[in-house]
Amino acid sequence: MRLIIMGPPGAGKGTQAKLLVEKYSIPQLSTGDILRSAILSNTPMGLQAKEIMASGDLVPDEVVCGIVSERLDDKDAQNGFILDGFPRTIAQAQALDIMLDEKSIALDAVIVLEVDANSLVERIKQRSAESGGARSDDNEEVLRKRLDVYGDLTRPLIAYYEKQGRVMKIDGMASIEEVTSQIANRLEK
Ligand code: AMP
Repeated sequence: MRLIIMGPPGAGKGTQAKLLVEKYSIPQLSTGDILRSAILSNTPMGLQAKEIMASGDLVPDEVVCGIVSERLDDKDAQNGFILDGFPRTIAQAQALDIMLDEKSIALDAVIVLEVDANSLVERIKQRSAESGGARSDDNEEVLRKRLDVYGDLTRPLIAYYEKQGRVMKIDGMASIEEVTSQIANRLEK
C-alpha cells in the first residue's frame, strides 16, 4: 500500500499514520519527524531547518525532496509506505511524481483528513500540553502561521491529486478509532 496522508496541522495525520503502519506493516515516512531528529542530532540539515520550523514556515523543497528520495530507497519502503507531511507544495508533488515514475511505482490513495478549522487550535494546544511543550512550533501564533501556509501552499494539492483520481476524503472530526476504520474500509473497497 502506497499512501499519502494530508490535512492541516492538528488534523491527526501522525496519529492515523501510526495506526496504518501497524495495520498494513508499512513504514511511516514523516518529513517532520526526520527534520526534528536532524535538529536533535545537530546535523547541517537540522541547523538549516531549525529556525524555519520554529517559525512555522516550510523548509526548502530541495531539502525535503532529498529526504524523501533517499528514504524511498530504503529496504523497508519497498513494499509500501505512508507519507506523512510530504508533499506540502505543488513542486514537491511534482518531484514525487517523478521519483515514483523512476521507480515504476504508483500511489494507491491520497487520504485527506477533513477537519473543522476552529477545532485545530484546541487540538494543538492539547498536543502541546500532553507533550510537555516538546514541539517549538506548537504554540498559537506559530500554529496560525502553519495554518496559513497549509491553506496557501498545501491545500492546492487536493485538486492536484483529484485530477489524478487518487483523493480519498475522510471526516477527521470523528474519534480516532472511527477515522481509522473509515480509512481502512475505503482502502479495502
Ligand atoms: P509536521 O511534523 O509534518 O507538522 O512538520 C513540522 C514542520 O517541519 C513544518 O511546519 C515545516 O517547517 C517542516 N516540514 C515538514 N515536512 C515538510 C515538507 N514536506 N516541506 C517543507 N517543510 C516541511
